[in-house]
Amino acid sequence: MHLKIYREMSKVRVRFAPSPTGPLHLGGVRTALYDYLFAKNQGGDFVLRIEDTDTARYVEGAEDYIMEALEWCGIIPDESPKHGGKFAPYRQSERREIYDKYLEQILKTDYAYIAFDTPEELDEIRKEFEQNGEVFAYDNITRNRLKNSLTLAKEEVQKLIDEKVPYVVRFKMPVDRILNLEDIIRGKFSVNTNTLDDKVLVKNDGMPTYHFANIIDDHEMEISHVIRGEEWLPSLGLHYLLYEAMGWERPEFAHLSLILKPEGKGKLSKRDGDKFGFPVFPLNFKDPETGNISKGYREEGYLPDAFINMVALLGWSPADDKEILTLDEMAKEFDLHKVHKAGARFSKEKAEWFNSEYLKSKSDEEVLALLKNVEGINLENSSDEKLLKVISLMKERATFVKDIYNDGKFFFEAPTYYDEKAVKKAWNEETATILNELSTQLETWDMKPEIIKQKIHDFAESKSLGMGKVMMPLRLSLVGELKGPDVPDILEILGKEESVARIKNAVHQIK
Ligand code: GLU
Repeated sequence: MHLKIYREMSKVRVRFAPSPTGPLHLGGVRTALYDYLFAKNQGGDFVLRIEDTDTARYVEGAEDYIMEALEWCGIIPDESPKHGGKFAPYRQSERREIYDKYLEQILKTDYAYIAFDTPEELDEIRKEFEQNGEVFAYDNITRNRLKNSLTLAKEEVQKLIDEKVPYVVRFKMPVDRILNLEDIIRGKFSVNTNTLDDKVLVKNDGMPTYHFANIIDDHEMEISHVIRGEEWLPSLGLHYLLYEAMGWERPEFAHLSLILKPEGKGKLSKRDGDKFGFPVFPLNFKDPETGNISKGYREEGYLPDAFINMVALLGWSPADDKEILTLDEMAKEFDLHKVHKAGARFSKEKAEWFNSEYLKSKSDEEVLALLKNVEGINLENSSDEKLLKVISLMKERATFVKDIYNDGKFFFEAPTYYDEKAVKKAWNEETATILNELSTQLETWDMKPEIIKQKIHDFAESKSLGMGKVMMPLRLSLVGELKGPDVPDILEILGKEESVARIKNAVHQIK
């Protein structure tokens, strides 16, 4: 009962706590997004905390990458190493004094002990276990015959400490206790402490491990809800007990299911991305060791609002099967109880669909600004007026902004070749004569699509030709292939002079 009252009075505070061990992947982005959406939905705070106590796994540039990725997604923290805040510092490597203080506290309880076993000794025991077909765990049975403050005499322990023999601090898992755990998404479940091991809380260099630093910071930073990936579910029992050991009230927990491979089985991996041709990271990431670049959604041409909309719906369904929602709309509607227990299958097609929907919903002027920023294309020779016309024609059928240019290249450059199959289909002995006559007439036309359409129609009729006999070779001359928007629209944008030149060129080239 006490718990409930406290919760109702305290502010909702949620944290995203990545370790800078590499680029954020899709799952990480989704965790951050749900953290953010829940916090905003509850009028609470969203905190970014960098969990960098594991120096062995630290990757240069990963922290900057995480911050830049969140920024690109529009998931802006209220507190972070960059934004500061009341509970600074927000990097665990800068919070050592705080952990030292609580280490002293937990060592005074019956929940922690000191262990002197060297890695070599533990390896030896592990091998012995293996030889007997067993798996070694440092737990509430084996600890009774290992080298620690539970088995050694007090004086001996002190002597080893004085001699600066390295030691770790371990959690003393209670014997045979049933822990009743609760998760907002998964409900209630229990676990027997005999199935859990004595995790290291503080390493021999004095640095806390994830478990210890994490609960200390969640307590210190007044975190009310821990929303994280399901890989942390097995640690929940230990975390409950750590709160108990410290005498602290614990936050509420929600563990998010995996994002699954496109086929539906198994966790989505970078390899799946390579195999099926989609990124699993929000931004390009250059591995500082190998120099290899992993592709990002941003560089692939995704719009950030489409990207986060897609990510949000991997595991959460808004009311009325709505699919297109802005970040604010999502925050208004977000409900942890509606987050799916089952894993969410990733779909490249769906991701592309989101992008095309967002692209369509943008004004031509907005798209123009985006198009001008696409790397590797030169639009200097085209007026904004022409570009806007091309955009309005091509936007509907494009998935990415760059498609407008790539699929509409013929608006900017005359064809340099004519598709062979298309030539076979569209061209015969009469075609040259037909096109020559048509282009002469064209010079007198008013270049408005409806008028052009009528004129072509009249022309075909006057020659007793089917429309295809005129339209197909005309398209081929202008585009080089039999694709693109309506021919009258293409003619309008190209203008008289360019259109006539292209027709003449085709007649000249195609035999
Ligand atoms: N640092 C942990 C990670 O990288 C955080 C887990 C948690 O949110 O408790 O996933």
